[in-house]
Amino acid sequence: MTNTDHDVIIIGGGAAGLSAALVLSRARWRTLVIDAGEPRNAPATEMHGFLSRDGMPPAELLATGRTEVLGYGGVIRSARVAGIHRDASGTFVATLDSGDTATARALLVATGLTDELPHIPGLRDRWGGSVHHCPYCHGYEVRDQSIVVIGGASPAVSLRQAGLLRRHSDRVQFVSNGIPLASTDRDRLAAIGVSVTDAAVSHLVGAAGSLSGVALSDGTVLPCESVFVAPRPRPNDDVLHELGCAIDPETALVTTSATGETSIPGVWAAGNVVTPTAQVITAAGAGSASAIAISGWLLAHDLDAAVAARHP
Ligand SMILES: Cc1cc2nc3c(=O)[nH]c(=O)nc-3n(C[C@H](O)[C@H](O)[C@H](O)COP(=O)(O)OP(=O)(O)OC[C@H]3O[C@@H](n4cnc5c(N)ncnc54)[C@H](O)[C@@H]3O)c2cc1C
Repeated sequence: MTNTDHDVIIIGGGAAGLSAALVLSRARWRTLVIDAGEPRNAPATEMHGFLSRDGMPPAELLATGRTEVLGYGGVIRSARVAGIHRDASGTFVATLDSGDTATARALLVATGLTDELPHIPGLRDRWGGSVHHCPYCHGYEVRDQSIVVIGGASPAVSLRQAGLLRRHSDRVQFVSNGIPLASTDRDRLAAIGVSVTDAAVSHLVGAAGSLSGVALSDGTVLPCESVFVAPRPRPNDDVLHELGCAIDPETALVTTSATGETSIPGVWAAGNVVTPTAQVITAAGAGSASAIAISGWLLAHDLDAAVAARHP
């Protein structure tokens, strides 16, 4: 097992992966990060809610993290992992999209998730600009604006968005766009002054790069300055499935321990790939916790091997 190229391969170099890489490279494990370079929050110009980094551009956080990892001898490759398997000796073999392979004793999957947005013309172009999903990330920034919440993939999340945004603005409208609303939900929205329109959304209105309203299928346009919608989170967990990691039947997420260990020995997962609700700071924290667990796991194997070599 020591004849591997690296001790650890980290797939994904976002907040979770780079945070793990920093801890592991500082512990002087041979660490390789393989990153496809498409972090989830890339469309946003600012990142919020990360203590001491509030308002920093997302790309700046990652550039700083990469510099720190490289400074401790970590290796970062810009590539996509196309496949993974474990050979007969237990070594993990990652195949990159270039066809190159890399081997390691342990694996951390930190590949994030993909936000599946409703098919509404004009929504994707404005995603991260004037279209948001997270009131904690961008609610404060749209305070006092005229806001439309469009019913999205999860009715519960859509309702929570409306409630939280009402704390920032007294001009919040809710367009159901086909999602079911219980009478208690309607009562709650009415009680806090959020008007509900039961209509399908046709498209977003505004010149390129700006937003002036939400057009409904009957031709009505609701003027607004920002839109919130709940996407469907699809974890980028192909690699974990390929390795045969256990899945929670209720959530369909790969199951992990508190430190991100999966059901497959030597395989960890951290960040949005297993915790869709993780923010940047909590994804980074999860990566750090996994790194410490991986370090302990590698050390235990090395100690066992040293004892075996001493008493053959
Ligand atoms: C528009 C938007 C704005 C947001 N704003 C905020 C905010 O202000 N504050 C906040 O706390 N959170 C914010 N978030 C949430 C934030 O994006 C996530 O919490 C964070 O990105 C999770 O980090 P991660 O490391 O798990 O995943 P990511 O940051 O998505 O990183 C995953 C990395 O893995 C790579 N990858 C995937 N598959 C492969 C593969 N097969 N091979 C190699 N690499 C691969 C990806 O390209 C990517 O670089 C926002 C999200 C969105 C969508």
